[in-house]
Amino acid sequence: MEKLIITVAPTGSLPKKKNNPAVPITPREIIEEGVRCEAAGAAIFHLHVRNPVDESPSPDYELFAKAYQGLRERTNLIVQISTGGRAGMDYEQRAKRLQLRPEMASLTTGSVNFPDSVYENSPALIESLAKDMQKLGIKPEMEIFDTSMISNALDLQRHGLVDAPLHFDFVMGLKGAIPATVENLVHLRQKIPGDATWSVAGIGPAQLAMNLHAVLMGGHARVGLEDNIYFCKGELATNVQLIERIALLSETCGRGVASIAEARQILRL
Ligand code: MG
Repeated sequence: MEKLIITVAPTGSLPKKKNNPAVPITPREIIEEGVRCEAAGAAIFHLHVRNPVDESPSPDYELFAKAYQGLRERTNLIVQISTGGRAGMDYEQRAKRLQLRPEMASLTTGSVNFPDSVYENSPALIESLAKDMQKLGIKPEMEIFDTSMISNALDLQRHGLVDAPLHFDFVMGLKGAIPATVENLVHLRQKIPGDATWSVAGIGPAQLAMNLHAVLMGGHARVGLEDNIYFCKGELATNVQLIERIALLSETCGRGVASIAEARQILRL
């Protein structure tokens, strides 16, 4: 099996300092976190930004630019910009950040009911984001919340809007999305092309369990406070702790951990 690629999703849209003081919020905090995550073994950095005043998710291009440029200057990480949109962000708001030309960006290929809202991704929006990424030479990470989203991703490939080999991230265990079970993970993996790479993001307590299954099944792992703020029941985590734990487990299982250069090779960046 190839070495494990560790993605860290350190911020996301939801957890705030009051939930876990280790969530990086400002561009400066996000950049410093990137330096620590790289040292701990992460290869991919999934980037969201927040309004520094109220910590709400932000589409602000200047915040993305500041965090992105700082990460580029201070680290060698593969920066993956989220094109997710909370609070009704429209296509223009979600696409503008792609002008930074990161190596990767996330692309959710369908809509899903979040516990508190609808995460809306219309066919037209998905197509537009895919075209933008292709034009700018950005590799999409297909964010898969349910099996149908794999079909949608493969449709994009058939229509020439995304280029093989595809990379998938299975988001499992979120209320409203596919439950985090081994059966479901095996099912999702069976549905993607043989040349594709994949990782798993488990939400909350599913993070560790699904990451471990990915280690054993030849997939890759996404950790971080975006998906899970706890190290174990009742004990808050830091991003570095979550990275170090899955790195140790992967080493213990004999897979090792991909360096950033190795991750670029595995993902054909
Ligand atoms: Mg995200």
